[in-house]
Amino acid sequence: MSLVKWTLKELQDRFTRGDVSATEIVRAYFLRISVVESKVKAYITVNEKESLLSAARTLDETMGTWRKTMPMMAMPIAIKDNICTEGLPTTCGSRMLRGFIPPYDATAVEALRAHQCFFIGKTNLDEFGMGSSTEHSAFGPSRNPWKLTCVPGGSSGGSAAAVAADECVAALGTDTGGSIRQPAACCGVVGLKPTYGRVSRYGLIAFASSLDQIGPITKDVMDAALMLNVIAGHDPRDSTSANGPVPDFTRGLKKKDVKKLKIGVPAEFFGEGVDQEVHDAVCHAIAVLEELGGTVQEVSLPHTGVAVATYYLVATAEASSNLARYDGVKYGFRAKESHDLLEMYRATRQEGFGPEVKRRIMLGTYALSSGYYDAYYAKAQAVRTLIRQDFERAFEDVDVLVTPVTPTTAFQLGEKIEDPLQMYLSDLFTLSASLAGLPAISLPCGFSREGLPIGVQLMGRPFEEEVILRAARAYELATTWRQKRPRIR
Ligand code: GLN
Repeated sequence: MSLVKWTLKELQDRFTRGDVSATEIVRAYFLRISVVESKVKAYITVNEKESLLSAARTLDETMGTWRKTMPMMAMPIAIKDNICTEGLPTTCGSRMLRGFIPPYDATAVEALRAHQCFFIGKTNLDEFGMGSSTEHSAFGPSRNPWKLTCVPGGSSGGSAAAVAADECVAALGTDTGGSIRQPAACCGVVGLKPTYGRVSRYGLIAFASSLDQIGPITKDVMDAALMLNVIAGHDPRDSTSANGPVPDFTRGLKKKDVKKLKIGVPAEFFGEGVDQEVHDAVCHAIAVLEELGGTVQEVSLPHTGVAVATYYLVATAEASSNLARYDGVKYGFRAKESHDLLEMYRATRQEGFGPEVKRRIMLGTYALSSGYYDAYYAKAQAVRTLIRQDFERAFEDVDVLVTPVTPTTAFQLGEKIEDPLQMYLSDLFTLSASLAGLPAISLPCGFSREGLPIGVQLMGRPFEEEVILRAARAYELATTWRQKRPRIR
């Protein structure tokens, strides 16, 4: 088997044993990229082969006792292009930041770099993370490796496609309302959104600061835990990062059962709008968890129906404020030939932002404007509290909640691009956990008749990533979905 098929854990083990060299790893991945990237288009920037090869050679030559102490060493990792990487362009999928080369690393990137992994490239995304298909990227959409005429999901569609297509061993994505979980489900890989505050947001270019969170997109659950181990933790540079203990997330993953685990099934996530195939696959996953020793009970999250409206008020309000900084003065794109300052601002934002970003800035500005603030933004904040309280109540009785990730499998390119509301509904099942700040994981649980992956979502209590990881791992070991790989053609 070609080494690009291995999971992070498998590759790491073989590298640690000396079965493969860093140079071989880098070569194999560049070969893979040269074969499939023109079809998948997962990357906005692929790093320079020669510079990674020379770093790999240095690693191989100096390899000593530290082989065992650096779990990410020599691993080819892809980074979503809204996370700052020193010396590598970071565009946010926007004309506004085309050519921007950050002078610093995001904290999560710094942590990976300290392990001497290889940043193989920066992955495509919907502009500033706004979208569910990568079609809102200024650099064109990525494709779903399972079916090239379908979207890979979004906004971290490039990261999910890169992992599914073996163009990296694992990737970082970001999730504001589902952008790790939804593309992971569409591409048949694992995506983990950590608890809000678990991973530093320093160096993540802001979309909606009270929701944004960095997390891993990987080939299996074990890899997600391994990566979370590296990126989690307190960071004084992010005032919202949590100052609690960080466990070893791989601990407990060996257990093959979920005895004593109380599983909640929220009825609101299984109603109208869910494809039959998705519905059946997720119900089957719940039955498997029950066979593994879990006890299943129905719970209710009564405010689920207003999550979409709430999210699109809170997220757009925050986005309108965060994106005010792109004025053509400090960095990034500046429109040419303006006669005065105001005209320069206007032209820069007119030419620099795409239509979805403009739509959100307008919505958010409206929701925050005096006269409408109380009716929209303040109301949305109040409903957000109700959504969080729904979860608090449910988690008094159960340990995890199991739901679909998306109402349908990956849709066709172009299918929803003209209809923002339809696009927003792709996030129906992922938004609630974001609004409540909870950890949630998406993992494969089946395929449609068409051969497209289906995902199941497990949500947990704040800072209980260990619980959802353990349940997800037990499920993964009891099933064979992850062994199925896309044939790219
Ligand atoms: N698809 C959702 C949106 O368009 C979520 C995006 C995200 O999580 N970054 O806002």
